[in-house]
Amino acid sequence: MEFKDDATAFNGAKHAQFADKGRMNQALSVLLMQVLEDAGVPTHFVRQLDEIRTIVKNVEIIKVEVVVRNVAAGSLCQRTWFEEGAPLKEPLVEWFLKDDALGDPMINDDHARAMKLATSEELAFLRSEALRINEVLKPFFLKAGLKLIDFKLEFGRLASDPKTIILADEITPDTCRLWDVESGEKMDKDRFRRDLGNVMESYAEVLKRAEHAVHR
Ligand code: 5GP
Repeated sequence: MEFKDDATAFNGAKHAQFADKGRMNQALSVLLMQVLEDAGVPTHFVRQLDEIRTIVKNVEIIKVEVVVRNVAAGSLCQRTWFEEGAPLKEPLVEWFLKDDALGDPMINDDHARAMKLATSEELAFLRSEALRINEVLKPFFLKAGLKLIDFKLEFGRLASDPKTIILADEITPDTCRLWDVESGEKMDKDRFRRDLGNVMESYAEVLKRAEHAVHR
């Protein structure tokens, strides 16, 4: 797996490059995979090759993007009556079809089964595993002074044992919304999406805080 310096938004309509983004994202993603592994969540992580390349387990990616939300933001506010920043009583889990050409549309269990993306049992596992991951990441980010607003996960079936599903892909400010606990400042890819400036400064700050939180 290679972490690039490219940033895209709105399904590729917006594109830019940020020096050092790949290195910082890999460092954070590897750190979070280790936090998850320590909490008993199996991931695809094997070892780091260098600053931007990681050896990961061979999986067949399940084409369902799993989004977990703790606070309303982003597309949830465009599709529903939730206002940005509204706390959700319980974490909300959503499925999106992993297909950039279609703009990753939201789907439900019936769609996923009809398209043979996953079985009912696999969908139930994705849901419980995503919620379990939320329960590990939420307190971890809180230790780093960051509120985990929402995030996107991808899972895969092990090539060597397709009955086993593990967390794959990355966990970075590209795939999570993170707000500063004190100021509420956005510290994630929304800075790029919304032209808020200081994109890489925020990514660097998230990484620095996460590195300190590991030792606390
Ligand atoms: P939303 O549905 O509000 O746009 O996104 C919810 C969360 O999932 C956000 O943290 C967002 O960054 C992440 N997310 C959703 N889809 C994608 C995607 O295709 N790529 C990336 N990098 N993140 C995504």
